[in-house]
This record gives sequence, structure tokens and C-alpha cells, in this order.
Amino acid sequence: MSNVHELQFIKDQIEDLKKDGVYRKLPVLEGANESEILLNGKKVINLSSNNYLGFANHPKLKEAAIKGVEEYGVGSGAVRTIVGNMDIHEELEKTLAEFKREEAVMVYQSGFNCNAGTIQAITGKGDLIISDELNHASIIDGARLSRADKTVYKHADMKDLERILKEKRDQYTNVLIITDGVFSMDGDIAPLPEIVELAEKYKAMTYVDDAHGSGVLGESGRGTVDHFGLHGRVDFTIGTLSKAIGVVGGYVAGSNTMKEWLSHRGRPILFSTSLPPAAVCAISEAVKLLMSTTEFTDKLWENGRYFKDRMKEAGFDIGNSGTPITPVMVGEEEVTMKFSKGLLDRGVFVSGIVFPTVPKGTGRLRCMVTAGHTKEQLDQAVETFVSVGKEMGVI
Ligand code: PMP
Repeated sequence: MSNVHELQFIKDQIEDLKKDGVYRKLPVLEGANESEILLNGKKVINLSSNNYLGFANHPKLKEAAIKGVEEYGVGSGAVRTIVGNMDIHEELEKTLAEFKREEAVMVYQSGFNCNAGTIQAITGKGDLIISDELNHASIIDGARLSRADKTVYKHADMKDLERILKEKRDQYTNVLIITDGVFSMDGDIAPLPEIVELAEKYKAMTYVDDAHGSGVLGESGRGTVDHFGLHGRVDFTIGTLSKAIGVVGGYVAGSNTMKEWLSHRGRPILFSTSLPPAAVCAISEAVKLLMSTTEFTDKLWENGRYFKDRMKEAGFDIGNSGTPITPVMVGEEEVTMKFSKGLLDRGVFVSGIVFPTVPKGTGRLRCMVTAGHTKEQLDQAVETFVSVGKEMGVI
């Protein structure tokens, strides 16, 4: 007799997902993540990837990864604090600090880990975390892991942020304001200069998750802080190594003191094995490539502008994105998912984003334009959008 539980309570919830029209199977990619992919056996244009610069399958990064494996093996063998801290990890952090124009960088195994580990380490009892209501799930989880009090301000609403600061600042030892640099679901850029001014006025610390800004905004993709010229005025800047950089991992850029502290209290640094050599070497190559040319970021923006202009001309509501992320607003969950399926049936893969990732009734098709797309692919995608959109009465 099996002692495995029936898990009926989970089965019931899965049925609910099906009833709500938000149940889905994991799509399977056969081969590399590029602008055109083989998905569930079908060749489609890929408008769903975070591979902004086309680095995920770049020959120079692959070469660096192979060299890393040959010289250092496939695994790092331990956590950073025991014997998993190789010279290549140290070098990568120096390169990233130079890229971000910050004193120091601490690298984590993922962007998610970085938020979860860093927020918990830098806040505690007697502190307050003030977070934008649309911040990423890993920020929410990092805040949950902290013993600090938490509150949210309305999305990008500086009046609401100031109201909270005015009301609560004096009740706490430290206050940490957290915002995404670029909001991943809409592509809008945080009002960082205003946030920094408020933080300075009320003596609060600032924390920017630039997962979607790094490699995209600023000089050679240095990120949102660089885009606004705010170097030296943001305490903690997070980046991922999995999106524009094309590999895997995350990092926080800031002061030497921050790094010293995280090497003692960043739980993923202490309790989870460090990044493998292939990843570290490929990332180093990617960052050096970014610093040596604007070719990739220029192409990303050119493609982003081209696609947005054409979608707008076609009559779609594409929101207020300030980056190449292009949300196509649909509304109802079921209609959004049907639209996504209609596109896929005709060779364009765009994931439908619905509740609980975004609020109910604000379903959208999030188009991720990259430097790797050709004009022909973008034209074909627009044409497919137009034909499905007309059939479904969205335009
Ligand atoms: N922060 C934001 C804003 C993100 O969009 C993501 C990725 N979805 C993460 C953090 C997590 O990054 P990673 O995928 O590297 O774990």
C-alpha cells in the first residue's frame, strides 16, 4: 500500500485553475532560445523571451563557457563561504562593479535568490520596507523573509510614497524603499529621480531591482540608475544575469560594506552552492562584450521602436512602456489566453499574462522584442496579431 497522499486539496485547486481558464502545461523548447524557436515540435517566432540581446546562444559566450568547463570543471563544489569561491567569481564581481559604476558587487545563483537573500539580510526588526505595489514576486518574498514591517505604495505614485514616509518614518530605525527599475509586465520605468529625492529627504535607503533595466537602459545597458544619472545615490541595485546577459544568476551592486555584510549574512551565499564555472565565464564575456560596443543595445531599441510603431498603427493598445517590452492589452483572462493560442496556432509565441501575475481583468499579451529579431520576423508577428485581433474583436 502506498503511503503517498491523494493530495485532493491540491487537485481541487487545479480544477479551479481549469475553470478560470488559466490552467496551462509547460511549453517545451527543442533547441536554443532564439528569435525563432522549435516549440512543442512547431517552428514559431519567439516574442516571449528575456534574451534581450540575443546572448543566450552567442558564439563568444559559448566559447567562454566551454573554456570555463575545461579549466574549472562543471561545478564549483561548495558554497562561496567554504570552498566554492573561485578566482573567476571574484573577477566577475570586479567586472560587474566596473560595469555598474559601483564600489562592489555580490553575485548570487539567480535574481530571485538575490532579492530573497539581500532584502532579508539588510532589514530586520524595527525597520520598515516600503514597496511599489507592482514589484516582482521575489521582492515580495524577500520582504516576507525579513522581520521588518512592510507596506506598499500605489504603483509609481510619489504622493502615496511621501504620505507613507511622512506618517511612518519616525517610528522606525531604518526604512528601505524598494522599486523595480523597469516593471516587467508593462515595461514602464520607475520614477527613480523622485524616489531618490524622497529617500534623501526622509533619510531612507533605496533598493532598485533592475532585472529588466540592466542590459537595456543607460550607456551600454548599464541600467536604470545610469539612465537617470543617479550613480552614488541608490544604495542597492539588483540585476539579473539571466535576461539581457543571457546566462543565469543575479547580483546586487552597492558599497564595500554591503558586500562584506552579505558575505556573512546573505543566506544564499552561505547555504547554496555558487554559480558553476561555465556560467561565470560566459557572464564575464557578456559583460565585457556589452562594455565594448553599443551594437546590441542599439539593435534592441531599434527593433523595439519598430515593433511598437507598427502595433500602434494597427490599432492595438500597447500601454505606457518606456522600454522594448510591449504589452498588448486585452482584458478578460479567457480572451487573453485564447488570443495567445490563436497567435501560436499561426506561428507566433507570445505568452498571455493574466491574474494572479497581473490584476484581474487586465490580461495582456506581453511581447518581448529582442536584438535578435529580424524586421521580417517582426512584420510577420504584427500581421498575425492583426488577423487574430480582428477575428477576436480586439481591434
Ligand atoms: N526581478 C525581476 C523584476 C524579474 O522580472 C525577475 C525574473 N522574472 C527576477 C527578479 C528574477 O530573476 P531570475 O530569473 O534571474 O531569478
